[in-house]
Amino acid sequence: MDTLLVFDVDGTLTGPRRRMHEDFCRFFKSICRNYPVFLVSGSDMIKLEQQLPGEVIKLVTGIFACSGNELLMDGKHMFRMEHHFPGAVVTFLESFVEASQYPVRTGNHLENRTGTLNVSVVGRNADPGQRKKYFAHDNRNGERKALIEALVQEFPDYEANIGGQISVDVTPRGWNKSRVFRELSTRYPGLAIAFFGDNMHLGGNDRPLGDAIRNGSGDNRVFAVEDYCDTWKILQEQFCNWTSVHSQVA
Ligand SMILES: [Mg+2]
Repeated sequence: MDTLLVFDVDGTLTGPRRRMHEDFCRFFKSICRNYPVFLVSGSDMIKLEQQLPGEVIKLVTGIFACSGNELLMDGKHMFRMEHHFPGAVVTFLESFVEASQYPVRTGNHLENRTGTLNVSVVGRNADPGQRKKYFAHDNRNGERKALIEALVQEFPDYEANIGGQISVDVTPRGWNKSRVFRELSTRYPGLAIAFFGDNMHLGGNDRPLGDAIRNGSGDNRVFAVEDYCDTWKILQEQFCNWTSVHSQVA
């Protein structure tokens, strides 16, 4: 059976906000030469280009950026779902950031991406140590979960999902990574999808796509991974039998 491989990026193919590991990159390029590969990220292309080598960007079949609200294939935009967030939503999120008991603020707390508003209490200027500390705080206190609940209660036309270590992606309801499943099953009917993500828990930004893929027809598989080493191991164990693999999808 032909299979499309679909990967989250941050935490699934790389460490948090880190560049792809060199050895893994070499291996991953061979995967890209043998399967049609799509990447799905909450980040925009600027951040993706910081994390992924140019060769990988060229080798993959397509990249869904900004939580699936942009699709790039062969360096061209296939679509871009823009959304203007109302002032009331922006003010609500700014107030949440201000009111948080977390003591550290690094700046760049609200970032506009295509179809998405990325919100972070500690701020996107946080260094890796500050990110780790905020992540531990969030695990103890459930701050991002509380933000999502409060937002959805106030603005039911919007939804939010936990992405990466420090932020939440706010989108109009339904504009999450699950769009990727609709798009791929229309473009490649009959192909099975294998999806890898590190944020597959309830409220995680890989969950909507994981659920859509599990509930879709076909021999699809969803892998909740711990980190890129876990992804590497699963790929080696289950997807390296090149002889059974079909040629690249055009
Ligand atoms: Mg991730």
